[in-house]
Amino acid sequence: MTSNFLMRECRRTARNLQRFLDRDPSAPLSEDDRRRVEAHLKECEKCRTLSEEFQALHSSLSDLGSTLAPSDEAVDRVKAALDRALQAETGQP
Ligand SMILES: [Zn+2]
Repeated sequence: MTSNFLMRECRRTARNLQRFLDRDPSAPLSEDDRRRVEAHLKECEKCRTLSEEFQALHSSLSDLGSTLAPSDEAVDRVKAALDRALQAETGQP
């Protein structure tokens, strides 16, 4: 396997990782994609580490959600940051 191939798989895996971990029913990964992510995680340490970090983040976020509701101010701040990020992404006001 060439490193070019592995790098392409890394990008592909990174794109699919969030959906892979979320198992979001509104945007499910195809069975093929899911298997591909799993196979890649087995052979690529970099993406495995990324995946573990994602999972740790997810579980700490859900821990926070169950014990501590965010303040309105914090929610507004996150929304504003998201809006700014989206505007930067799309160039739309
Ligand atoms: Zn990788």
